Amino acid sequence: MLALPVYNGKNLLGIDFEEWFHPQLIQKYLPKKNHELKIIYGIDKMLDWLRKNETFATFFMVGELLEKKPELLDKIIENGHEIAFHTMQHNRLDDNNFKEKFEKELDLFDKLTSGKSKGFRAPTFSLNKNTSWAIDHLIEKKYLYDSSIVPAKTKLYGFNDADVAPYNISSDFLMGDNKSSLIEFPLLITKVFGKKIPAGGGFFLRFLPLKIIDSAIKSYQKLHIPATFYIHSWELTPELMPSLPLSISDKFITYHNLRNALPKMTKLIKKYQFTSFERYL
Ligand SMILES: [Zn+2]
Repeated sequence: MLALPVYNGKNLLGIDFEEWFHPQLIQKYLPKKNHELKIIYGIDKMLDWLRKNETFATFFMVGELLEKKPELLDKIIENGHEIAFHTMQHNRLDDNNFKEKFEKELDLFDKLTSGKSKGFRAPTFSLNKNTSWAIDHLIEKKYLYDSSIVPAKTKLYGFNDADVAPYNISSDFLMGDNKSSLIEFPLLITKVFGKKIPAGGGFFLRFLPLKIIDSAIKSYQKLHIPATFYIHSWELTPELMPSLPLSISDKFITYHNLRNALPKMTKLIKKYQFTSFERYL
């Protein structure tokens, strides 16, 4: 059984590696078929960015992209980074019939990566009480960690009562189970006007003033808790992201301040130390 990691002053950086057509809120606006790959061609830019900032990251990969471009894996691994699983096609865990598919997907991803994946992140943080069966599959496949819990309730996901520090997670007890071998890395949150809100990436990284995120990291440091961040591949390469005609609210959440994510994250990785998940473990 894997013991909980000892805090080493570092924070965690995950890159959710997906294409422009994967985010949940744009699904209903997508052209029928023929989704041309665009974001994957930003891989060298992402790797250069990490190299320049002397930071290792974990790439939570949508598996179908490795099927189409297996060389992505070599580039990621050769540069010292890690690979982890983000489902084959960016399905929510509660999508129809996905429960039956998940185990096969884990096997397929295992083949595509020669068994290198030891971590998982559920698309749109869709790990919840109804989809906790996924945890049993991850344990069965000898996965070491998951990073799908946001300890703040939002419209799309999250739990207000989840621990903010890494903990052992099981399908019976999403909020902590000492007997489980799977380690959960919850995403960074903060409190604004007494309300818990996510602060570790995506829309919240783009929306919140950097000062608020900075003080969230500092408060975790004081408590000896690593701050777990995620950034999307398409946030690192906004110039490759097509702009679809979305409704105002979907557009706000998906594209708001899109060009701010990279400069903000750059400031954070220059100021604080970040590393990949397996290295942290
Ligand atoms: Zn995703």
